[in-house]
Amino acid sequence: MSHAVFIHAAGDARVAPFNLREGAPGETLLDVAAVGLCGSDLHYYKDGGIGSAVIAQPFVPGHEFSGWLTEDLPALGLARGSLVAVDPNQACGVCEHCRSGHPNLCPQVVFIGAPPHDGAMTERIWVPSSQIVAVPQHFSPSDAVMLEPLGVAIHAVDLAKPRLLERVALLGCGPIGLLILQVLKAVGVGEILACDPQPHRRDLALKLGASKAGESVADIAEWTGGEGMPLVIEATNAPEGFRDAIRAARIGGRVVLVGIPDGDSYVIPAAEARRRGLTIKFSRRMGHVYPRAIELVALGKVDVEAVVSHRFSLKEGPEAFRRHANNEPGLIKSLIYPSRFDDEGLN
Ligand SMILES: [Zn+2]
Ligand SMILES: [Zn+2]
Repeated sequence: MSHAVFIHAAGDARVAPFNLREGAPGETLLDVAAVGLCGSDLHYYKDGGIGSAVIAQPFVPGHEFSGWLTEDLPALGLARGSLVAVDPNQACGVCEHCRSGHPNLCPQVVFIGAPPHDGAMTERIWVPSSQIVAVPQHFSPSDAVMLEPLGVAIHAVDLAKPRLLERVALLGCGPIGLLILQVLKAVGVGEILACDPQPHRRDLALKLGASKAGESVADIAEWTGGEGMPLVIEATNAPEGFRDAIRAARIGGRVVLVGIPDGDSYVIPAAEARRRGLTIKFSRRMGHVYPRAIELVALGKVDVEAVVSHRFSLKEGPEAFRRHANNEPGLIKSLIYPSRFDDEGLN
C-alpha cells in the first residue's frame, strides 16, 4: 500500500494510505523521486484553497516533482529507471489561448496537484506520457524538481523583458524570488535591489548576486533617493506585495507580479499607481520553458540547489507544511522524498 500527504482543510495535513488508481491509455507510472513544497501548496494548506480552487475533499498536493520511469518510454528514448521531470500543466491544446502559444492561460487546463487533481506527494503517480520531460541523466532528483519553479522564474523574466544592464527591484526572496534573481543575472541586468523581511533570505539573495538586500520596500526607496526602479518584480505572498511593488517603481516603470497573496486579495493605492503611469503585468505559471530551464541548470548558470534548504521524508510532509506555515527561520525551499528515502540517500 502506498501512502500520500493529504490536505483535508485549512491547517490540516495528514499522511494516510493512498489507493493508486488504474492508469489510463497514454499514461506512464512513475516512482516519485522528489516533490517540492511550493508557495501555492502552502496556500492550499493555510487557506484551504486559492480563489475558486477550493479543497472540497482530501487532496494530495504536489505539482513540482521528478520521478523514475517504471517502464521504457520509447517516444522519448528513455529506459525504465530513468529520472524524468514532469510538466504539471496539461493544457487542452486546441483553445485559442493554447493555439496562440499561451498554454499557461488555458481555461480547460488539467493541472497535476491543483484541486481536484491529486498531485505527487505520494510514492507512485500516473502521469500523461506527453507531460514527461527528459532530463540529463546526471541531474539529481532535486535538479529535476526545481525545473518547474525555475520555469516560473523564466516566464516572469520573459514577461518583464529587462533591458541589458537595467536596474531591477526584486520584492520577496523566497524560492521563486531567488530563482528570478539568478535568471536576471543570467540575462545581464544591472544592479538588483532586493527586499525580504527574513534575514536568511536576504543573506542568500546577496550571495546569489543581489547588489543590496533590505528588510522592506522602504529600503529601496531610500537607496534610490525616493526615485524608485525602472523594473520591479514582485514575488511575495503578501497582500501588500502589489502596493509595495508600485512604491518601488519609478515614474513610467514596469511591474511584474508573480506572487500569490495570502487571502487572495491585494491592497493597492490607486493614485500612486496611476500617477506613475506604470505598466503592470501578471505572471501566470509558465509557457514552453522547460528546454531553457534544463539548459540553465546544465550550464550551471542557475544554482537550483542553493535554494533548497530542507529535505523531508513523506511521513514528515505534514511537519514540513506546519513549519512553512509558521514561517520558521531558515526555511527557503523544502523538498519531500517519497520513495527510496532510506536506501538511496537524499539525492
Ligand atoms: Zn509551484
Ligand atoms: Zn487550451
